[in-house]
Amino acid sequence: MRTVDDLLAEGVSGRRVFVRADLNVPLDKTQAITDDGRIRASLPTLQALRDAGARVVVAAHLGRPEGAPDPQYSLAPVAARLGELLGADVPLAADVAGEDARARAADLGDGDVLLLENVRFEANETAKDADLRGELADRFAALADAYVDDAFGAVHRKHASVYDVALRLPHSAGRLVVEELDVLRRLTEDPERPYVVVLGGSKVSDKLAVIEALLPKVDRLLVGGGMCFTFLAAQGLGVGGSLLEADQVDTCRRLLDENGDRIVLPLDVVCAADLSDDAQTTVVAVDAIPDDLKGLDVGPRTVEAFGRELGGARTVFWNGPMGVFELAPFQAGTRGVAEAVAAVDGLSVVGGGDSAAAVRQLGLDESAYGHISTGGGASLEYLEGRELPGIAVLERGDA
Ligand code: ADP
Ligand code: MG
Repeated sequence: MRTVDDLLAEGVSGRRVFVRADLNVPLDKTQAITDDGRIRASLPTLQALRDAGARVVVAAHLGRPEGAPDPQYSLAPVAARLGELLGADVPLAADVAGEDARARAADLGDGDVLLLENVRFEANETAKDADLRGELADRFAALADAYVDDAFGAVHRKHASVYDVALRLPHSAGRLVVEELDVLRRLTEDPERPYVVVLGGSKVSDKLAVIEALLPKVDRLLVGGGMCFTFLAAQGLGVGGSLLEADQVDTCRRLLDENGDRIVLPLDVVCAADLSDDAQTTVVAVDAIPDDLKGLDVGPRTVEAFGRELGGARTVFWNGPMGVFELAPFQAGTRGVAEAVAAVDGLSVVGGGDSAAAVRQLGLDESAYGHISTGGGASLEYLEGRELPGIAVLERGDA
């Protein structure tokens, strides 16, 4: 796979380079960025291209607009923050690949950076039909002479700006994509043992495929978060008003039957009647969850037990918060596990948008982790062994 460093070695001064970045950051109600981790992760590639005199056209998505311009999902706050971090003016095109984008791309000087508007303002970005995506990809390709994919968080999507444009231009992988793939490869090819995976988050159905793929490879799978309740129900326990995916109970039961020795479930949970900042909480054993309460975090005995498993691990992958960490009463489980993962003596990898955000929001030291992935879905699909379209296309030679 060619990388941006190969492109730089060819010389890019004066050339226009189209960079697909992952700038999909969380915004609050006032459109302020609450976590700029993904913007910061995109800087090495962008800075290297600027320093080499490239004229950089950056494309990215934000949220899920419905294929039409929607001011709520404008990349304007991202352009401003990217400009601050690069120490340069980063203008935002008024459209994705229309008249304004074309005019601005043509006007770029060496080392300049232009951000296109949210690529998902174009319905063809995510179209199933390759001809429709191709229509948009042709317009992307007309903006530049080379394509660099640095949007690791989007490489599992067969989208126009991730896949189809790469078929139309000389293409290479950005530094973030290279780094993410290196780490994931270390997790799949002969990981140092014990290898412990911690999974949490809300939906077990989102993660069953990765659980199935990982179980034969790991020494321990620790399950917390909302998804643990479907496993607890599969053991015949009552889960009160906790998250439960009834249609997944049988699958969870089979997984427990086949791999019960490797799956570690919570011992206790933090319960409350409602999801609020000042909720009254009680800690109960998993076999004593009251009917009228919801389990919203793992309890202290669970944190201790998970901590013991993590203490001896040499390789750890963690995806998914242990509880509703967004609210103070339900943070302790995620904090405890995050601290235990940070203390791992070996390779520790955090994957998942919410998990990475939790590490930063809880004020934990990011440098204590071996790697914090910017791509939740992409890293999970890689670990499942699925082909990632955005990577497969980079591995093909140029057209
Ligand atoms: P990631 O983005 O790291 O892959 P997910 O998107 O799968 O993680 O899950 C994150 C969400 O899971 C968080 O918003 C969190 O509030 C929620 N969550 C965790 N534990 C619970 C629980 N016990 N009940 C309900 N939601 C939960
Ligand atoms: Mg998430």
